[in-house]
Amino acid sequence: MGVECKNIKRPYCPLIYCCSFAQIWNMLLHNRVNKEELKRKLSEEVFSRKTISLYRYFEIIDPLEYRNDLYKKWSTLNCFGRIYVAHEGINAQMSVPENNLPQFLDQLNEIRGLKDIPIKYAIEDDGKSFYKLTIKVREKIVADGFGKDDYDFTNVGTHLTALEFHQMSEGPDTLVVDMRNHYEYEVGHFLNAHHPNAGTFRDAIRMAADALSEEKEKNVLLYCTGGIRCEKASAYFKHRGFKNVYQLHGGIIEYAQHVKHLEVDSKFTGKNFVFDDRLGESVDGKIIANCHQCGKPSDTHTNCANDDCHQLFIQCEACKSKYGGCCSVECQEYPELKHNHYSKSKIYNRIGLQQESR
Ligand SMILES: [Zn+2]
Ligand SMILES: [Zn+2]
Repeated sequence: MGVECKNIKRPYCPLIYCCSFAQIWNMLLHNRVNKEELKRKLSEEVFSRKTISLYRYFEIIDPLEYRNDLYKKWSTLNCFGRIYVAHEGINAQMSVPENNLPQFLDQLNEIRGLKDIPIKYAIEDDGKSFYKLTIKVREKIVADGFGKDDYDFTNVGTHLTALEFHQMSEGPDTLVVDMRNHYEYEVGHFLNAHHPNAGTFRDAIRMAADALSEEKEKNVLLYCTGGIRCEKASAYFKHRGFKNVYQLHGGIIEYAQHVKHLEVDSKFTGKNFVFDDRLGESVDGKIIANCHQCGKPSDTHTNCANDDCHQLFIQCEACKSKYGGCCSVECQEYPELKHNHYSKSKIYNRIGLQQESR
């Protein structure tokens, strides 16, 4: 006798496993179609979009309520993006329809905590950075792995403008430190920057402070993508006893914009990795990384086309067509099978020549 199947709405199913499988398959199919549909809609839009980012640390008592309010406001304005809300503040990467931008900016000033919040505009912007609006409540906007009282994260390092950072980085007794992850550093970084070769900020903040623990009297100049990680990193460095801690205000995004007007050569070479569908924007036009499959120059990050794998790695155009956008022959030929390396890693670490967990 069959079992009643709640999955595919048939009264009786002779094979219970078939029904479970059908449900999973339908879910996968639904998500995939949905994503492609959303991307198609984005590509057919007749108006343009601006890619922006913003963040602020401030206390949010009820992150879920705050999130729901933002979702209502920003979906009405047809905004897309990836936004994190936590008790400690907000971090948002967004794409806003250009026509709605003035209204969006006005509205920001009315939202609690966001008055006069600095906005960063992307330098290379095709308006295709996001295809949907996702606002998530997280425990923290930047996960550092520390408890609330482990260090005073309001006691931050001195902010430097792009020009100040540029000039000061040439000075004696000065260390420039990249607070980002190894895959970000790999495609672009400040010349002569120290980098902790970490896969997460949680590791980077400890590893960088440990590695430089004999250099506490030097000027330490920290930088990251947009500045949000350095707020915490600089406070942690001060907590660890570093005397002269500075941070690049607005991060690489601001530096890249200003360096063009400063009539100086960029000290940042390569691409600024960004966490949206573009996965990076070039700062000085140079390619400093290599394809992880054939070794030829390339700085195009991609996620393995096999959704079960989704590993982040660098792939050139030739390898993209050869492997169908996949990281390996296994992923290309056996999309339905779960391979061992899926569970071990989602990020290819070329610098450490090993795979690691995100
Ligand atoms: Zn290649
Ligand atoms: Zn793969």
